[in-house]
Amino acid sequence: MPELPEVETVRKTLMAQLGSVEIEDVKVLWRNIVDQDLKDFERIVHQRIEAYQRYGKYLIFECEKDALIVHLRMEGKFYILDTEQPYDKHVHVIFRLSDGRYLQYHDTRKFGKMKVVPKQENLQYTCFEKLGKDAIDPTIDSFELYQKWHPKKIHLKKMLLDQSFLAGIGNIYADEICFSCGLDPQSIVYDLSRHDFENIVFHTHRILMGAIRSGGTTIRSYTSSLGVSGLFQLKLKVHHQKVCQVCGSPVEKIQSDGRGTYRCRKCQKKKRKRG
Ligand SMILES: [Zn+2]
Repeated sequence: MPELPEVETVRKTLMAQLGSVEIEDVKVLWRNIVDQDLKDFERIVHQRIEAYQRYGKYLIFECEKDALIVHLRMEGKFYILDTEQPYDKHVHVIFRLSDGRYLQYHDTRKFGKMKVVPKQENLQYTCFEKLGKDAIDPTIDSFELYQKWHPKKIHLKKMLLDQSFLAGIGNIYADEICFSCGLDPQSIVYDLSRHDFENIVFHTHRILMGAIRSGGTTIRSYTSSLGVSGLFQLKLKVHHQKVCQVCGSPVEKIQSDGRGTYRCRKCQKKKRKRG
């Protein structure tokens, strides 16, 4: 399931592989991937891709007049092929490009979505209005987040997964952030301090940037037959681990807010407000 670093890797790979090509035609094989009227979606035909952008987990292909916004959701990925022939039965949208190649959207679960909207300055797209800042945005202010979120009596994990907190964090990195902060994912946000919020912002940036750097190897080793999913060998400390790498205690897997959640009981504390 791609989170911010994986989507960033997909963005950089597509930018490096495709550059400034024109979309000459589009063929939709599975209607539900397109989240609008097909006529509106087809506006993207005969437009040149000018920039490859990302906001949270969204990919944005900015063209001359319009932008194609893609959310890969669970399993979405791209193949860049020399043939129009679908890679397999899971290819749902095919873009014919001016360099003679085909960009094929592949999605085994069919949960991904794409939409064409008029191009905006500085990613001011209406579909991003409810999202928080991009989780690696250097202007994130931990005190601002503290003021807005600390009155809430919800779990820390739930806050991290809420895309209106910061955009781009998913289940894996939420566990890693809790671990690095030494906080139990089921800590109540109301009990967290300003300092905890500083730590959350610091470690979110550190962990996601580290993951993006690991993704760099994916971009260099790109081969068209593998598809561009952005998934790479992650260096995880707690998510999907059996033993805590810090204290050696067993890592527990629990269900928290409907998601499989990994934690070390010893290293991660549940905060309690004093008094
Ligand atoms: Zn531990």
